[in-house]
Amino acid sequence: MATASVDMTAALPAVFAKLGLARYADLLLHLPLRYEDETRITPIANILHGQLAQVQGVVTHCEVQYKPRKQLVARIQDAEGELSLRFLHFYGSQTKQFTIGNIIRAVGEARSGFFGLEMVHPRCRVVSVDMGLPESLTPVYPAAAGVSQTLLRKQIGLVLAQADLTDSLPDTVLEQFQLLDFAASVRALHHPPPDVALSALIDKTHAAWRRIKFDELLAQQLSLRLARQSRRALGAPSISTTSDFPQRLLANLPFALTHAQQRVWHEIRDDMGVDYPMQRLLQGDVGSGKTVVAALAAAQAIGGGYQAAFMAPTEILAEQHYYKLQSWFSPLGVKVAWLTGSLSKRAKQIAMDELASGEAMLAAGTHALFQEQVQFHQLGLAVIDEQHRFGVAQRLALRQKGVQPHQLMMSATPIPRTLSMSYYADLDVSVIDELPPGRTPIVTKLVSDARREELVGWVRDKCNQGGQVYWVCPLIEESEKLQLQTAIDTHAALSAALPGVGVGLVHGRMSGRDKAAVMTQFSSGELGLLVATTVIEVGVDVPNASLMVIEHAERMGLAQLHQLRGRVGRGAAKSACVLLYQQPLSQLARARLKVIFESSDGFYIAREDLALRGPGEFLGARQSGAPMLRYANLAEDVELLEQAQVAAADMLLHYPDAVQVHIARWLGVQQEFGKA
Ligand code: ADP
Ligand code: MG
Repeated sequence: MATASVDMTAALPAVFAKLGLARYADLLLHLPLRYEDETRITPIANILHGQLAQVQGVVTHCEVQYKPRKQLVARIQDAEGELSLRFLHFYGSQTKQFTIGNIIRAVGEARSGFFGLEMVHPRCRVVSVDMGLPESLTPVYPAAAGVSQTLLRKQIGLVLAQADLTDSLPDTVLEQFQLLDFAASVRALHHPPPDVALSALIDKTHAAWRRIKFDELLAQQLSLRLARQSRRALGAPSISTTSDFPQRLLANLPFALTHAQQRVWHEIRDDMGVDYPMQRLLQGDVGSGKTVVAALAAAQAIGGGYQAAFMAPTEILAEQHYYKLQSWFSPLGVKVAWLTGSLSKRAKQIAMDELASGEAMLAAGTHALFQEQVQFHQLGLAVIDEQHRFGVAQRLALRQKGVQPHQLMMSATPIPRTLSMSYYADLDVSVIDELPPGRTPIVTKLVSDARREELVGWVRDKCNQGGQVYWVCPLIEESEKLQLQTAIDTHAALSAALPGVGVGLVHGRMSGRDKAAVMTQFSSGELGLLVATTVIEVGVDVPNASLMVIEHAERMGLAQLHQLRGRVGRGAAKSACVLLYQQPLSQLARARLKVIFESSDGFYIAREDLALRGPGEFLGARQSGAPMLRYANLAEDVELLEQAQVAAADMLLHYPDAVQVHIARWLGVQQEFGKA
């Protein structure tokens, strides 16, 4: 029986925060990692070497030995056997436990030592002869310094006895998805009966786990969908779809939209016609042509009398957008403003004035565009390129007072379906699942660093034939200085090895202006070879470049490799990507190189990446904005996720009270996240 009474809503002591626990009620969902079986006592005579067991016996001997080092050794005896208990670390008071005649219950791993069977540092308790055994397995929780197993077991035991375990799900949902009820589930997981199917508890296939994972996924769905709903309460300009601007832009393009581009463009266009802010994620593999779709959306905004802004994570990318937008919009008589952190004060002021007055209807820039005190005359659409590069804080900074702009986020890192169904449940998603015609597949080669000279020969041939080449220098995480030096050295070595070829260098430490100057020389064909650090990872578009060399490819992540490789294969020429690697390869590096070598499908690569890294790392900055999943596994629980989606829609419609109870139980203080 619980004696102390616990206030479920009270805050836990601060150390519990290490385990992500804030309130007493949160303990209910702090679930065991594994279990120990203390429901049985094994006769000492039956114990084998290496066996984890619980024994019980009378103390027959206890002494502190000093050789070979100070240690406490006790012996216990049961009906047919004898066992030594050895403690290399102990308190003086511990000897009292082992007063001769005491009955000791000990749990530990048995070893056959020189003096017969023994346990080192077993967990021991003094018991009375008639003291019963626990009726359930003993939980082993994730613990932390200052939050011991013993403390957790005690507190969780109290909470479990006193908390309101009323089911948060309506009966119809329980029945529809054949779910175990909540109280039975948490009880079974914290205190499973000894005859439980232990393997099903450990691999989380047990019905109790199924229920918990369902609840967790459901809480995520509900909170993100609520965030989406509350955004709908905000006003946004309803932008008429009748303007002829998009048509005029299309007519000037040297190509026609692919079917996929057309489809997503229509999705976006319709979304911008409603009077609450669009929050749409436009997904598409590298080179699938997201920019032009976003430009069409901008054209619609401008045609409807509103401004549009393009925001990119790097200066190089922002500048490319700027030039591209200028070439598309100048013929329509639309002025494009250019705004980045590295502009002179004067230039920045001019751009800001043009945006404030509405003289410039379109803006391109890095996030300086939104973070500084930039006033728009009437912003109707914000386009955020490579959104995974931006933290949540930066996305939020975009929100303006009063009427909100529509938001179009673009992601070049394809997001696996399960992830976008879960972590992005607050966004609408459009997918371009088709590449523009005429792309030649990229041949990927894995080449050992030992064949470097041969490779330089290929580069020479390529440049002499009028082709262009990227040479990407290795990522050196430990030292930015070293990375810079490597880039400079590589540039010098390649310049010397390739007389007659224009060799350029671009790296992260250069000023925006210098970077842009080099990029312009490369796009115009003046340079044949561009040595670069990974600054060119995103968005760079030079169709004539058809060979990419990536040094120390084994150090790079899958998304990064896929992005880099996507810089070639954009023109008519046959393209290749050479992944230079250095032995020995770690298992992870080998797995990554295999994936990138075998596939050029961004969605497949993303799924493999998710499997190798897990959602936390995959999502990066995003993780701080959406509740992470603790128990459900997106690779294995797809079916549960789909069911949780159905249940979420149903509950939001028919059971608003249950929704609140469920979210409070699962997210507690966290529920503020994800709100608009
Ligand atoms: P990403 O989706 O990676 O941002 P971009 O928007 O940079 O791709 O487009 C890649 C290249 O493909 C650009 O040079 C762009 O002009 C071109 N492109 C886009 N759509 C088409 C199309 N429908 N047909 C031919 N080329 C296209
Ligand atoms: Mg792009």
